[in-house]
Amino acid sequence: MQLAAGLAEAVKHGAMADAEYFAFLEAEYAAIFAKHAPALERVVRRSVEIKAAVVAQDEREKGKRAILNFGHTVGHAIEATSQYEVLHGEAVAIGMVYEARIAETLGIAAAGTAGRIQAVLERLHLPVERPDASRVDELIAAMRNDKKVRAGEIRFALPRAIGIAYGDDARGWTTAVAPEEVHRILSAG
Ligand SMILES: [Zn+2]
Repeated sequence: MQLAAGLAEAVKHGAMADAEYFAFLEAEYAAIFAKHAPALERVVRRSVEIKAAVVAQDEREKGKRAILNFGHTVGHAIEATSQYEVLHGEAVAIGMVYEARIAETLGIAAAGTAGRIQAVLERLHLPVERPDASRVDELIAAMRNDKKVRAGEIRFALPRAIGIAYGDDARGWTTAVAPEEVHRILSAG
């Protein structure tokens, strides 16, 4: 696996589905970044297990697997507007920080969730700052062009706390946010 991409997805899996795994990433970041085999093997194994478990719970392909899109709404916009100079894992890392801030601002995520996600990503040498503020309009436009967007709203898969995704099977696993609100939070830096 491409290390940055693999580690960003590992943080995503911990943040959305497994607080203990997230805490392991926080504690063992140095061994992981140094590619020590036991730590790296645990990352690969646990990420595969979590992804498989989420997908197995969602055989209709329209429910819970949406939680695996955490960080990807903002992330895809960053990737696309950079002409793919920003790597997927880097873009998703930045996306998770901003999407977690959106979740906190909306009162969905517990206070401190975004800070913990940002801190572990920094320890893993992943970027956490979006492109220049002058490009926020462009990012919002890219998010609105995404095929998943309906009726002007932008949808996000958000955490409720570290290790717990927000949502349920009845109301769904993504949350619609007004583009103006997304713009405000991305512009805040
Ligand atoms: Zn991804």
